[in-house]
Amino acid sequence: MPTVIEPTRQTLVAKQYDVIVCGSGPAGIAAAISAARTGARTLLLEVNGCLGGTWTAGLLCWIIDSKGKPGVMREITARLQSGSALRRRIENGANFAFDPEFMKRLLEDMCTEAGVHIRLHTRVVAASRADQRLRAVITESKSGREAWEAHTFVDCTGDGDLGCHAGCAFDVGHPETGKCQPMSMACLVTGIHFAQVERFTGGSLGEPKQRLLKEIRAAGVDPSYQPPVLMCVYDELFVMIPNHEYDAAATDADDVTRATISARKEINAIVNALRKKGAPWENLRLVATAEHIGVREGRRIHGLHTVSLDEMVAGRRHEDGICRVRFGIDVHSTSRSRSKGFDKKNRVGTKAYDIPYRSLVAADIDGLLMAGRCISGDFLAHSSYRVTGNAVPMGETAGVAAALCSQRGCPPRNLPWSVLGPVLEAARGRS
Ligand SMILES: Cc1cc2nc3c(=O)[nH]c(=O)nc-3n(C[C@H](O)[C@H](O)[C@H](O)COP(=O)(O)OP(=O)(O)OC[C@H]3O[C@@H](n4cnc5c(N)ncnc54)[C@H](O)[C@@H]3O)c2cc1C
Repeated sequence: MPTVIEPTRQTLVAKQYDVIVCGSGPAGIAAAISAARTGARTLLLEVNGCLGGTWTAGLLCWIIDSKGKPGVMREITARLQSGSALRRRIENGANFAFDPEFMKRLLEDMCTEAGVHIRLHTRVVAASRADQRLRAVITESKSGREAWEAHTFVDCTGDGDLGCHAGCAFDVGHPETGKCQPMSMACLVTGIHFAQVERFTGGSLGEPKQRLLKEIRAAGVDPSYQPPVLMCVYDELFVMIPNHEYDAAATDADDVTRATISARKEINAIVNALRKKGAPWENLRLVATAEHIGVREGRRIHGLHTVSLDEMVAGRRHEDGICRVRFGIDVHSTSRSRSKGFDKKNRVGTKAYDIPYRSLVAADIDGLLMAGRCISGDFLAHSSYRVTGNAVPMGETAGVAAALCSQRGCPPRNLPWSVLGPVLEAARGRS
C-alpha cells in the first residue's frame, strides 16, 4: 500500500476546560448539561450540525424505556410536553414519539442555559495521553486542527471513537463473528392522517407492523427490515423505519457511505410504491431522510465493570447502580439470510437490572468516562441498555462524576460512590 508522510506538527491548545464531552447524542447532551450544572467549565464537541445524535440527525424520534427515569430525562419529557412536541399516546407508560426539529432547539436551549460551550461541525480525530492519563483531544473542523485540554473527558460518540483514539481496549459486534446488527435509516413522511393509518402505526406493537409489511409488499417492494415501523409524531407527520443495511461497520466510512446511499434509495422506492398503490397512501410524501443513518452498534470500550447477560437474567442490583434498565434483549439479525427482522434465538427472559457506575469508567486510562452505546457491556446486554431512556441517565451520571473528579482532582476510578451517589441524587431531584 502506498503511503504519504505528513510533516509532524505542533497543535495549539485552543482552550482548557474542566470537562470535555465528545458527541452530543442523548448521552452527550445529558453529560454536558449535568457537568455544567455541577459547576464544571464544560465543552461539548459534535461533528454534526445539530445536537441530539440519533434523536435528531438520525430522525429516530421515539424514546424507549423512559418510565420512572428522573433528572434530565424527566426534564426533557416535560419540556417536550409543554411545547406540545410530544405525542400524547405513550406505549407501556415508557415509550413515546417527539418532534425531532423541536428537540434540536430544546437541546441547544438546555445546554446554553446550563452554560455549556457548544462546538458543532467538529470531529474528534485523535487523543493525547500523558502517561496513564488522557490529557487532550484533537479535533478537525473548518478552524483546522485544534487541541483541547480538560481534567476529565466523557466519550459519548456512540462508536467509542475517543476511547479508541486514547488506546483503550474494546469489543465490537457478536462475540463469535464480530458482526454488528444492521444499520437502519429513519425518515419523516406526511400526506397521510393518523385517523386513516392508525392500524399501521405503533413503535413496539407487532400487529400494526405486520399490516404495514403487507401493505408495502402489496405495493411491490419487499422491505429489507421486516416488519417495518411507522410511528405518529403529529396527526399528519410520521417517522418510518423500513430498512436494514447488513455487514456495515460503523467505523468504516466506505461501509457507512454504501449503507446510507442504499437505505435512501430503498426508502424512496417504498414511499413511491405506497403512493402509487393508492388510498390511504395516495398523497404520501417524503419530508426528509436522516442526515445520519442509524447505527445500532459500534465499539464497547472496556470499563471497570462489564454489564452482562447473566446480570440481566438475574436482575442484578448494584450499590453504585445509576440507571435501572427495563427494556429487554433486542438483537436485529446480523445476517440477512437468517432473518430480516429480530434474532429470536437471542430472546432470553430478563429482569430489570442496574447499570453500575463502574461500567462507565474506562479501564485502560485515567480521566475518561463513557456514556451511551459505548459503555462497557457484552453483545446482548448492549442490545438492551442502548435505548435512549437509558443513554440519558448514563450521560447524566458521567457528567456529574466528571465535574466532581475535576473539582477533587481525582480520576473517575477513585471517585467514591459515597460522594457521587448523593450529588447525583440531588442533581436529579433539582431537574
Ligand atoms: C435504527 C435505530 C433504531 C433505534 N430505535 C430506538 C428507539 O426506537 N428508541 C430508543 O430509545 N432508542 C432507539 N435506538 C437506540 C438509540 O438511538 C441509540 O442507542 C442512542 O442514540 C445512543 O445514544 P448515544 O448518545 O450513545 O449515541 P448517538 O445517538 O449515536 O450519538 C452519538 C453522537 O456523537 C457524535 N459523534 C460520533 N463520533 C464523533 C466524533 N469522532 N467527534 C465528534 N462527534 C462524534 C455523533 O454525531 C452523534 O451526535 C435505535 C437506534 C437505531 C440505530
